[in-house]
Amino acid sequence: MPDRLAAALRTVADFPTPGVQFKDITPILGDAALLREAVERLAAPYREAGVTHVAGMEARGFLLGPLLAAELGAGFIPVRKPGKLPADTYAEAYALEYGTDTLELHRDACGPADRVLLHDDVIATGGTAGAALRLLARTGAAVVGASFLIDLSFLGGRATLPEGLPVHAAIEL
Ligand code: AMP
Repeated sequence: MPDRLAAALRTVADFPTPGVQFKDITPILGDAALLREAVERLAAPYREAGVTHVAGMEARGFLLGPLLAAELGAGFIPVRKPGKLPADTYAEAYALEYGTDTLELHRDACGPADRVLLHDDVIATGGTAGAALRLLARTGAAVVGASFLIDLSFLGGRATLPEGLPVHAAIEL
């Protein structure tokens, strides 16, 4: 059966910088049936996992992350770029192609009693997800898995995540 979600993705060459083949998910977000299918496919592996929170990375992890959280009966936690979260935060830096970037998480967003599912739209090299997992580790919460709409598997990001962590992607490219 053809994959309707994969077929709906739009690849935009040289965005935001030359050489990047950007995976644009807005055709999925803009179509009621595809949006529902995306949320259902992201939720399917975790319906019985006792997820208390979905943690989504700024910015495109904020698009489907809260929908996924609501579908799982969980809360949503924003993992944000520096200086955006108002209360006390943890910060973790990660490597980019040139230089580093940082993600922050509210220290009281979750704790040892919680079971958190990580979500982002795309896993590429895995650097962003790795930093988010280090942030969650500092809260003491259990991470039940990492969920992506798209895995750019040729970039090998999945292999950089901790061994034994369940990782699911609705679309493998
Ligand atoms: P990485 O840290 O290399 O795994 O990159 C993942 C982050 O960069 C995610 O937050 C994605 O939104 C974004 N990203 C990386 N590559 C792409 C791409 N080809 N198309 C769309 N978003 C991308």
